[in-house]
Amino acid sequence: MHELKIAEDLSSIVVDTAISENLLKVTKVNIIFGQMIQIVPDIFEFAFRETVRNTIAGDAELDIEIVPVVMSCLKCNNDFRVEENLFACSKCGSTDLEIIHGKELFIKSIEGE
Ligand SMILES: [Zn+2]
Repeated sequence: MHELKIAEDLSSIVVDTAISENLLKVTKVNIIFGQMIQIVPDIFEFAFRETVRNTIAGDAELDIEIVPVVMSCLKCNNDFRVEENLFACSKCGSTDLEIIHGKELFIKSIEGE
């Protein structure tokens, strides 16, 4: 249940950003999560709603984009999408890998008025 902690962190960023940009109201928040963060969107949305209640982001629409896990093989430089937690190069089978995508956790944009 790490959604609550993440929701608290992100909602304070949303509110601080909105205030510094002189917004009166946040209408939409676009969030990017890597698949490795293992967010359950429904739980996150529920937690986010709770944390922004009675703030200028209280009525904001939430858009969550999940980025698939992509790794790069350090042996043969093959970039591949990881399916079903199979962490081995799809070309040479090496487990000497580097994560390219999948650990993202950030606010892409905030819309408001
Ligand atoms: Zn490889």
